[in-house]
Amino acid sequence: MTQPASAFNETVYIGLGSNLGDRKAHLARAVSFLKQSHRIRVDAVSSWIETDPWGNTRQGSFLNGALQLVTSHSPLSLLAYLKEGELRLGRTPSEHWGPRVIDMDILLFGERIINDTELTVPHVHLRSRAFVLAPLLELNPSLHHPECHTPLRDFLMKL
Ligand code: AMP
Repeated sequence: MTQPASAFNETVYIGLGSNLGDRKAHLARAVSFLKQSHRIRVDAVSSWIETDPWGNTRQGSFLNGALQLVTSHSPLSLLAYLKEGELRLGRTPSEHWGPRVIDMDILLFGERIINDTELTVPHVHLRSRAFVLAPLLELNPSLHHPECHTPLRDFLMKL
């Protein structure tokens, strides 16, 4: 069933990353997966940026980017949809911070602050990683952190 436009009332930013195989193709498939859902409308996709591996540095470099969407999913239901997508796109359980075909994270969900066992929003690394902040600011240069209200560009300038 088609959702009424009013059901899509929160702007959400998703972070995407891949460091295995054809990284560009995996990212493109992730965008298509999100576009397939009648509960999601993808409004903008950032450029992909080449990023050194973090955490475990003995792995290939990442391609990272971000995507802006509106959705009628709740945060937890969107997280479940992202996890389903990661599996469908071929992600297998791997070591913490290890190589991955695709990673999809909720960076911002409207102005919400969520501290759930399964979900932390804004994303826990939002303030500290340039590969998260740069694509977000490309999509919307006036974004701020919903908890402290600091403009995200200030965090990026300090890195
Ligand atoms: P990752 O290895 O980056 O895919 O993250 C693994 C787990 O982080 C997931 O199973 C989620 O339950 C949890 N998580 C906590 N906060 C978030 C978030 N904002 N976006 C995505 N996953 C999250």
